[in-house]
Amino acid sequence: MDKGNKVLPSAIHCVSVSKSYGETEALKDVTFDVTDGEIFGIIGPDGAGKTTLFRILATLILADSGISAIDGFDVVKDYKEIRKRVGYMPGRFSLYQDLTVEENLKFFATVFNTTIEENYELVKDIYQQIEPFKNRRAGKLSGGMKQKLALSCALIHKPSVLFLDEPTTGVDPVSRKEFWGMLKNLKKQGITILVSTPYMDEAGLCDRIALIQNGQFLKIDSPANIVKQYETKLWAVKSDNMYKLLTDLRANELSKNCFAFGDKHHVSVDNAQLTVDSLNSYLQQKGHTNIEIREIEPTIEDCFMQLSLK
Ligand code: ADP
Repeated sequence: MDKGNKVLPSAIHCVSVSKSYGETEALKDVTFDVTDGEIFGIIGPDGAGKTTLFRILATLILADSGISAIDGFDVVKDYKEIRKRVGYMPGRFSLYQDLTVEENLKFFATVFNTTIEENYELVKDIYQQIEPFKNRRAGKLSGGMKQKLALSCALIHKPSVLFLDEPTTGVDPVSRKEFWGMLKNLKKQGITILVSTPYMDEAGLCDRIALIQNGQFLKIDSPANIVKQYETKLWAVKSDNMYKLLTDLRANELSKNCFAFGDKHHVSVDNAQLTVDSLNSYLQQKGHTNIEIREIEPTIEDCFMQLSLK
């Protein structure tokens, strides 16, 4: 969308945004900015507050306090302007299951006073992949195809900012990968993207991320910087008795925190105090066999765990 020659404000600007539902504090004092053309990820588990944030920014619910603006327009005062500028793909129920693929897209175009033809260029790469099924009802599409149709519908009015709430949840790994490829292409066309995901491995595909837990942002930075700031060494540990291993590692006072990660346990340790050899002896004394201890690079999930336990 053309923003003229004015000095550009942040694409998304939030200051001290809070929202409660009765006793539940869904968002607590959230502050962040997203610059034009960024892919910004909101990464956190179920119930962290992601959808609440999206709904406030998409002008569907009101925050209790704080300021939010999109392209310089206030979410409360200028909600009509914002609705023209944003595309919103909610986590669930964004498509009409009984309408066909083509009817869904036409419907969303009509709501925004436009036509498929007018903005076809923007959705072409994505829509072409599902066009062979244009007469199929949306309810009969696979997860990956639904996701492509929902993205086409969110884009059909040529928004400048796209909100994608858990777009890859329940979608197969191949479609997930394709989806992130599509987001990279949209970024090249200048669209700002705010995307949430519970999948920590998708964090690395964003320019910057916010790690969110219990309604609070734990950290905002690029994925590489977040990993760089991991404060301790990290070891992956295995033995023949993984259940007992977790208990024994947690009982060792020199291991800072420890959690199960795939077929290993990840232990963060202060290297000056605990060595691989001393941990090995400790575990042998506890009766463990086939012990494996390896230093590893932290992932975003490890960083999330460390930050969330502070
Ligand atoms: P996420 O999208 O990260 O799963 P949500 O924003 O949906 O998180 O939810 C944040 C918290 O607010 C959760 O504890 C959830 O149960 C609660 N919550 C969300 N919507 C409502 C609602 N309409 N009424 C009451 N509680 C809600």
